[in-house]
Amino acid sequence: MTQAPPLSSPRRIERLISGQPTSDGAGVKLTRVLTNDLQQRLDPFLMLDAFGSDQADDYIAGFPDHPHRGFETVTYMIAGRMRHRDSAGNEGLLENGGVQWMTAGRGVIHSELPEQEEGLMEGFQLWLNLPGARKMQAPWYRDFKAPELPRLRTAEGAEVTVIAGQSAGTAGAVQREVTEPLYLDIHLPAGAHFEQALPASHNAFIYVYRGQVQLGGQTVPVQKMAILANDAGSDGVRLQADQDSRLLLIAGRPLREPIVQYGPFVMNTKQEIYQAVTDFQSGQFAR
Ligand code: MN
Repeated sequence: MTQAPPLSSPRRIERLISGQPTSDGAGVKLTRVLTNDLQQRLDPFLMLDAFGSDQADDYIAGFPDHPHRGFETVTYMIAGRMRHRDSAGNEGLLENGGVQWMTAGRGVIHSELPEQEEGLMEGFQLWLNLPGARKMQAPWYRDFKAPELPRLRTAEGAEVTVIAGQSAGTAGAVQREVTEPLYLDIHLPAGAHFEQALPASHNAFIYVYRGQVQLGGQTVPVQKMAILANDAGSDGVRLQADQDSRLLLIAGRPLREPIVQYGPFVMNTKQEIYQAVTDFQSGQFAR
């Protein structure tokens, strides 16, 4: 276990966000936590959806075939079973605690369909932007079953799954050079605390999905996102919990490029969006 020096200037909360109830795919009910109006503020992240229901009608239709271009999707399944298939020939079953990382790059068509007819389905989908120079790269896909994901336990009692980036000397399942994404799932038993070093310039947020946590003297309640301030000189994030809590901590280096989104296509210019629509309509995303 690596002992990092304690933080001297932890971040404060800039804003609490509730998210917006919506539906997507063929009628899957979800909460859009990171909405379009926050894309600049939370660059390089474009979207975070939280889904969680034990009512089959809320998820059963899933996400039939649809395209993506220009970014990456990261799906983290807390509970449930979802089958992924894409036009690059990848297929995977995403189950309890598993992660699927898909780089759409120049284009994929994929489906994400439940393989359960009852019970709880709960998880998250994060969209991570690609730098302009890599938006047209070849598609990439990996899935990680829960036991394959790097985990650490701190002396202060935090249990952390390192999906991307690095925490306390543990390298995450996925690393990305330009955006340096950090994606942690943090379980804080009552009384535990946790510190994560983070460059002040990286945009960062947390989303609490069990319990509640304290950050910078404020409480972040369940099902809220806290956007963390980028104050010069701040050196990381300090979290405390007085009850059993679980949250996501997500951070990355901003790209500071123009973001032009048209549904499932995210490019730098309108011209590139027209090209994406044309390429999709002429069948160039398919095998
Ligand atoms: Mn999709």
